Amino acid sequence: MSRVLVIGCGGVANVAIRKCCQVDGVFTELCIASRTKAKCDALAEDLKGTTKTKITTARVNADDVRELVALIKNYKPDLVMNIALPYQDLTIMDACLECGVNYMDTANYEPEDTDDPEWRAIYEKRCREKGFSAYFDYSWQWAYREKFEKAGLTALLGCGFDPGVTQAYCAYAKKHEFDEIDTIDILDCNGGDHGYAFATNFNPEVNLREVSAPGSYWEDGRWIEIPAMSIKREYDFDKVGHKDMYLLHHEEIESLAVNIPEVKRIRFFMTFGQSYLTHMRCLENVGMLSTTPINFEGHEIVPIKFLKALLPDPASLGPRTKGKTNIGCIFTGRKDGREKTYYIYNVCDHEECYKEVKSQAISYTTGVPAMCGALMMLTGKWTEKGVHTVEEFDPDPFLDSLDKYGLPRSETHEPVLVD
Ligand code: NDP
Repeated sequence: MSRVLVIGCGGVANVAIRKCCQVDGVFTELCIASRTKAKCDALAEDLKGTTKTKITTARVNADDVRELVALIKNYKPDLVMNIALPYQDLTIMDACLECGVNYMDTANYEPEDTDDPEWRAIYEKRCREKGFSAYFDYSWQWAYREKFEKAGLTALLGCGFDPGVTQAYCAYAKKHEFDEIDTIDILDCNGGDHGYAFATNFNPEVNLREVSAPGSYWEDGRWIEIPAMSIKREYDFDKVGHKDMYLLHHEEIESLAVNIPEVKRIRFFMTFGQSYLTHMRCLENVGMLSTTPINFEGHEIVPIKFLKALLPDPASLGPRTKGKTNIGCIFTGRKDGREKTYYIYNVCDHEECYKEVKSQAISYTTGVPAMCGALMMLTGKWTEKGVHTVEEFDPDPFLDSLDKYGLPRSETHEPVLVD
């Protein structure tokens, strides 16, 4: 029996909410609140008669702590699931603290306005100190650790697939497969085809910012940064086949380096097709990925927001996308004094996802872990107070619930390694 407030009603939230409604014995009451209430109402209407979960809806501007506090005080949830955008992480955490409610999200904080001088000064200092230049990092949310601990509350950060399940795979490898892990390669392959020359699989603004940024990886206790897309490998993915993949900076590298400190190297690779990369480079070269407002015929326009308006809505890709995703982690290390390797991954089929929850596999592979993370918190499996990432919790019940609710694991002890 629980009351959960979900903030956001986009591609990922749609999946998470539909999956919560499949587990209506735990998610007994759900309030869907977002900027556009009509989207929440449409989803609630669509779910009518399919679940015992009692669904209500609300409008909220999650940039405004006062509005959030009023909504949370009125609804009195046991947990707030933030599935809006990374820009809202801190305001929602503030509101949860003020109301004494547990919190979770799927991506770490980054500011909407990267030109804000106050934020920029802190960001530039962090770039110099840490050695990577991504706009997002954990420092902003880790700064809430003491406050959540003192309030006796839990904040679970980044519980999607990557970040999220990939860290549970690392915790699982550490718990069951290795005494010491030497290297971790996280491989994110999307073998899906939506038939458009260019579209992003989740929020275009967040996605394009991530992909156009310099890559970086963790090696021997420090970050090594490289120009965007400058390290390329080819890999033969189970159920997908050969794909080109590129080294990217990714948020879970930062927390894994802290929480599994023995690891000598952590890298993250994502597959991209040539058409995607050519479009992205071209858009970047002409300034369309910029977040800095420009004046156009008397109107202020943020180029990347304008581009978002032109691109297909990621939620509309579901019915057109065919193929599979394959996301997982390859480990090297030792067990009982012997060298060993291990690969744990999930394969997910875009068309199967659409049949089940009217969404493509990218939203599915994020929304299902969000539901399973909430399930861990609501059923007393993950209760440690403070602000935590997924690898800090027991991976076993979480991976069991992923197996059960749509993202079963596969594994091999003889993977082809990435050079
Ligand atoms: P969408 O853009 O589809 O949805 C975002 C939702 O948040 C929309 O409903 C939007 O409302 C709402 N929203 C935005 N701003 C506000 C606000 N100020 N107040 C209230 N609601 C707001 O994004 P996705 O569903 O694709 O992504 C959701 C999250 O999941 C993102 O943080 C993304 O980074 C993360 N993600 C994580 C992954 C992982 O593996 N860990 C992978 C993919 C995504 P409106 O409808 O009005 O625009």
